[in-house]
Amino acid sequence: MNKADVNPPYDIFSVTVKKAILITPFLKRISVDAREVSGLRPDLPGQYLKVFVRDADGFRQPGRAYTVRRFNPGTGELELDFVLHGDEGNISRWASRAEIGDKLEISRPNTRSGISIDPEIRNYFLFADETGLPAVAAIVEALPAAVEARVFIEIANAKEMQPVKGEAAISVRWLCRELGERLVDAAKDLSIPSGSLVWVTAESGQVSAIRTGLKKQKSLGTCAVHASGYWKKGVADHRDPD
Ligand SMILES: Cc1cc2nc3c(=O)[nH]c(=O)nc-3n(C[C@H](O)[C@H](O)[C@H](O)COP(=O)(O)OP(=O)(O)OC[C@H]3O[C@@H](n4cnc5c(N)ncnc54)[C@H](O)[C@@H]3O)c2cc1C
Repeated sequence: MNKADVNPPYDIFSVTVKKAILITPFLKRISVDAREVSGLRPDLPGQYLKVFVRDADGFRQPGRAYTVRRFNPGTGELELDFVLHGDEGNISRWASRAEIGDKLEISRPNTRSGISIDPEIRNYFLFADETGLPAVAAIVEALPAAVEARVFIEIANAKEMQPVKGEAAISVRWLCRELGERLVDAAKDLSIPSGSLVWVTAESGQVSAIRTGLKKQKSLGTCAVHASGYWKKGVADHRDPD
């Protein structure tokens, strides 16, 4: 069988790993030099781009979406947080072994990705599992002091906790799967004020269940809702329809 590189219809940039740190047992932060990559906007938390790795024969494999955890326009340093979910996924396998000096290929951020912080919004309800946590942490860091953010994060166990900080009034509830705590249950019976921003990024089945539950909220029609499945159990390269 003839193999070939995957060639998407947009520019791909080869970047070099500058730092690779395990921030929890299952989350690795990889920093790359992204000075050549345009479109990275620190004022748009939740931006995402495509990450590509090559197979053993050197051929570029189909990319996967990853969130800009942080971008420093002064130094060009781009931080991406990778969930290490095992060797079944090309990217997870690559990330678990990545070291300083390794090469990675990335796209520019998707032009429709990221949210601009609306000064009129006073209440944020943010739900995520480990894959959505980079976006939620970046959003929380970007919020002004005058707003309130209630954050719900589902993780495998307590070892996966990490600081989620910002200037806003933030409350974080960690939900541990090993204790049977689930995002979908935490989202039930919440009272969401009109005009809130609701953000849900997690496994696709859970996002659907949360979306269904939230629809019972009378105030939801007045809220800005971003709900997207970031992966799907048993499905490689899952994308929720836009
Ligand atoms: C907009 C967007 C932003 C995202 N941002 C991030 C991010 O910042 N960090 C991050 O880690 N992920 C993020 N994801 C999720 C990531 O793209 C997927 O997890 C992706 O499938 C991983 O690719 P892979 O090559 O490792 O595995 P794939 O080849 O896609 O999948 C192989 C197998 O692994 C399973 N799998 C995939 N992801 C997980 C997981 N997290 N846990 C358990 N099993 C899994 C699949 O169900 C499949 O059975 C994001 C997704 C989207 C859509």
